[in-house]
Amino acid sequence: MELSRRDLLTASAIMLMRPMSSISAPLGAHLAAAPLAGGTEPMVLLCWNENPYGPSPAARAAITQSIADGCRYPDDENPKLVSLLAEKEGFGPDHIVTGTGSGELLRALGMLAARQHGEIVAAEPTYAELTEYAQHTGATLKLVPVDKQLRHDLSAMHAAVSAKTRVVYICNPNNPTGTMVDSAIIAAFVAALPDHVTTIIDEAYMEFVDGTPSSVSLVTGPKRVVVLRTFSKLHGMAGVRYGYGIARPEVIEEISAARMTTPNIFAVRGALASLGDKEFLADCRRRIVASRARLTAELARLHFPYAEPHGNFVFFDTGVRSSSSPSSCGIGISPLDGVSTFRELVPRHHRDRSADRRLHRRSAGLSSESCQGSLI
Ligand code: PLP
Repeated sequence: MELSRRDLLTASAIMLMRPMSSISAPLGAHLAAAPLAGGTEPMVLLCWNENPYGPSPAARAAITQSIADGCRYPDDENPKLVSLLAEKEGFGPDHIVTGTGSGELLRALGMLAARQHGEIVAAEPTYAELTEYAQHTGATLKLVPVDKQLRHDLSAMHAAVSAKTRVVYICNPNNPTGTMVDSAIIAAFVAALPDHVTTIIDEAYMEFVDGTPSSVSLVTGPKRVVVLRTFSKLHGMAGVRYGYGIARPEVIEEISAARMTTPNIFAVRGALASLGDKEFLADCRRRIVASRARLTAELARLHFPYAEPHGNFVFFDTGVRSSSSPSSCGIGISPLDGVSTFRELVPRHHRDRSADRRLHRRSAGLSSESCQGSLI
């Protein structure tokens, strides 16, 4: 497949901040169905920040071998996985709540925050699964623009907190900008919040960050903090659905009571096996981080501004308007509603006039997919 520079920059545009369920049906159906018009090549889906290498061999085997047990509830098996997750995080099992993806937990938290028209403070732009769900269930949103580097502007977010604020949502690294805030800065921010506020720190992409910058130690501090993780990204199990939250036991109980369901048997067994497949996880991480570096090197060479990426995707400014329909060159795209330029994202006092371009988010794909990227 040959792509022109413009094709690639337009078509690899990834501007998805919403869960699939909130995408309009025709677009969602088109992306999922995947065949190229008149051709046999599958679509290259660069819009969901998945791990294109798929689940680990151990997870695949565990899932395949579980087909016959699909008639069983996994309620007796999930505690073993919860214990392992608790050990990995350094807390007791009573500090863990599991969900059908971390998205289920985000929605449960959004619903809890929305009671009596509770207020939520979040960055703009950020991953919208919690905020959109909470808004449907009655919450008031206070969205605070990201700063000049497209990171959460924590001092402005602090200023936005009021007596009605129930939740502050921090997505770190942030989707879609890929930027992150240092855990020490988050710790100081949380310490300064009023006691009635719960801080939700969504670390879906933390495994792609260098070092150990997680905020998980805050969950046992004096403030209410929930940290969320998922098997959908590094573990390559987005279609299997398993995620978990870490918090103090009384917060865990509240979230558990608000969940819709419990994880399925394939998710539980697959996640358990994936946790043990450390070699595969390290290899995926290495390839994805290398792909990310290749992308940013190419963007730098072409003088396209991009936000410093810490996840498995790169947020960049192409100078062209993205299309809402998949491109004829077979790359799945999705436009960002309402915001289209670096300039629009950054508050007036931070603005840099040269940054008035069109924005895209592109997942780090397979090496072969990134080779297509290098044609630009
Ligand atoms: N949090 C962030 C920041 C995400 O980007 C996503 C999915 O893209 C999720 C949570 C949802 O993950 P899950 O598949 O575990 O529901």
